[in-house]
Amino acid sequence: MEINSVQLEQVNNQIHRLIASDNFYGRKLKEAGVTGVSSAEEFKKLPFSNKQDLREAYPLGLMAVPEEEIVRIHSSSGTTGTPVIIPYTKKDVDDWAEMFRRCYEFAGITKKDRIHITPGYGLWTAGIGFQLGAEKLGAMAVPMGPGNTNKQLQFMIDMKTTVLTATSSYALLLAEEIEKRGIKDQICLKKGVIGSERWGEKIRQRISTELGIELYDIYGLTEIYGPGIGINCKYDTGMHIWDDYVYLEIIDPETGENVPDGEFGEIVLTTLVKEGAPLIRYRTHDLSRIIPGECPCGSRFPRIDVIAGRSDDMIKIKGVNVFPKQIEEILALFPELSSEYQIRISHLEGKDTMRIYVETNGTVDFLDLAKRIATEVKSRIGFTPLVKVVEIGVLPRSEKKTKRVIDERYD
Ligand code: ZN
Repeated sequence: MEINSVQLEQVNNQIHRLIASDNFYGRKLKEAGVTGVSSAEEFKKLPFSNKQDLREAYPLGLMAVPEEEIVRIHSSSGTTGTPVIIPYTKKDVDDWAEMFRRCYEFAGITKKDRIHITPGYGLWTAGIGFQLGAEKLGAMAVPMGPGNTNKQLQFMIDMKTTVLTATSSYALLLAEEIEKRGIKDQICLKKGVIGSERWGEKIRQRISTELGIELYDIYGLTEIYGPGIGINCKYDTGMHIWDDYVYLEIIDPETGENVPDGEFGEIVLTTLVKEGAPLIRYRTHDLSRIIPGECPCGSRFPRIDVIAGRSDDMIKIKGVNVFPKQIEEILALFPELSSEYQIRISHLEGKDTMRIYVETNGTVDFLDLAKRIATEVKSRIGFTPLVKVVEIGVLPRSEKKTKRVIDERYD
């Protein structure tokens, strides 16, 4: 999928603006000898930007307009190291709301819907993005934020909310709670818009069946507006990405070259009209692929597959490259398992070891099941993990993103 002439012109304008603003990123481009871009070939030679660059620009080094034009900042979760601050102009906030409105529209949500918003409000972009889009659409937003399950369920019932917005782990937690309390008949939900955390088909099925709702995956990241830059339509053939706002590439994370459409690689995004903090060729480290061909919905917006993981999640164990997604696909072959699992990598007695924790109910022979899973991993990926089977409910669930892969080798 080549960059088109309109997008190319927009990138060229962004480069000129960045260099003229002399912000952190503009200086980087200038140092790299970039003065503009006039062809697809030249575009592919532009340097990548990455999270480390953005950290170095802390706190406001990314600002590409005079400060009086900035109306808000957001920050990506600084779980490791310095946080990243993204400044937004009025237009950036409006553009983001418009993209989010389009997401809701693609999911068939209308102004008659009542949208229950559980992602957090504050520095990160989640809650407020869902809120802005709902208001722009004209729907009724119910700004719950995360936590307090009793109150969530009470509002869901009393406000008759029709759309749930959440991370997949929180949606799962709510679904399990609704099931446990036997209150499904009082819930009016029809649709769920779920944040783009990597999630398997099994979790999806469980949330969808237990809540009786249609699910939509929404994509985005704080560095590029926030959630809302793409969503799947009702045909569920991948997430349409709004390429009138962001240009999408998929690259080989090792070589940096574009991969052919249909092949998996790392998502790289370029903002086309962003003012506050434009980014060129930003490496997201999210793994996906462009889905070739046309969607039955007729939309011309390109599609990407569900996020398959993070390029930095790739685990090298006993000389084999493994993605958590591969393990997840194997676990999905065992209907007796729950959707939760945890992978721990450690270095024991001079050897790398993978332990896989899975959950099942008490009717299954734990040892036999563990053995069958280990054999399947060996035959499909090429090494034998240690598999531990535990009772359903033992593995952690969280309101934010559940950490499923823990590498203890570098602790
Ligand atoms: Zn479509």
